[in-house]
Amino acid sequence: MKKRILIIGACGQIGTELTHFLREKYGAHKVIASDIREGEEEMMNDGPFEVLDAMNYDALQDVVINYEITDVYLMAAMLSATGEKFPMKAWNLNMNSLFNVLNLAKEGKVNKVFWPSSIAVFGATTPKQDTPQRTVMEPSTVYGISKQTGERWCEYYNNKYGVDVRSIRYPGIISYKTLPGGGTTDYAVDIYHKALKHKNYICFLNAETTLPMMYMEDAIRATVGIMEADEKDIKIRSSYNLAAISFNPEEISKSIQKHIPEFEISYEPDFRQEIADSWPQSIDDSQARDDWGWQHQYSLDEMTEKMLTNLKEKY
Ligand code: NAD
Repeated sequence: MKKRILIIGACGQIGTELTHFLREKYGAHKVIASDIREGEEEMMNDGPFEVLDAMNYDALQDVVINYEITDVYLMAAMLSATGEKFPMKAWNLNMNSLFNVLNLAKEGKVNKVFWPSSIAVFGATTPKQDTPQRTVMEPSTVYGISKQTGERWCEYYNNKYGVDVRSIRYPGIISYKTLPGGGTTDYAVDIYHKALKHKNYICFLNAETTLPMMYMEDAIRATVGIMEADEKDIKIRSSYNLAAISFNPEEISKSIQKHIPEFEISYEPDFRQEIADSWPQSIDDSQARDDWGWQHQYSLDEMTEKMLTNLKEKY
């Protein structure tokens, strides 16, 4: 079957690497990257690129029809920390972009949709350890509320209209190619940059803040993995729990010190501490593992080695 992919929000932290991966896999001309802004040279030159506002239904529909798109990956969103600064903007972007894509699928203009949710759907009343797939969900951030609502709509569009929408609840994603875009887990990327540049890091979360995290390569494999799974194996149409590693700032700094012994971390928690405190520490993702064969690969130390090696080349 002919496959044509549209990535919306392709210039972001995850979109950049997803675009690269999918272009390698399916051929550059089959993967149309789009974002509200232009991307880096590699993104613009390696395959088709459209400047596109995910909130503009007509513009989105034109691109879908012109390129005969079959699969959409909707990566545009406003993340947790930025969302708290611009609540209505976050709500409008996160919800309207999702409705636009779900409605295109409902009208049969695309076959399959990927939309990421987040561990931010959980809140202070959720069990913090091995958070189950189905549990109490009382998110306290605008971002978390938008993701939880999005999950409900995804399931609704699947139940009522048969829309083939697939979703995972990403933990904090750690990568070296692009910088993260305003989330609460951003420290776990920044710390590697600062370790190499200054040998010290001032962390905006306290030493004991354990959060679920994942190396980018694992996140991309999960994303493409769920999209390639048999439709019958996707039993959850809200969003799947997904896990890899959990650690706190002290543990990641110890992992860095194995390579840079003089590295030092200090702590100055800010408003993001409260967000982090409302999220789980570890996630039970057994259903993703059972249903469509999810398996993570990277441990904390393996990720540290990859991050430091690749960033060293950059600097
Ligand atoms: P990001 O902020 O790095 O990238 C988002 C991209 O969307 C940016 O390139 C931005 O220019 C683009 N964008 C913003 N408004 C747009 C619009 N109106 N139309 C088109 N594009 C627009 O985000 P990310 O970290 O790559 O996250 C991608 C998805 O994964 C989001 O849905 C996010 O909520 C989810 N997620 C990410 C993480 C993480 O750790 N990165 C964790 C959980 C969930």
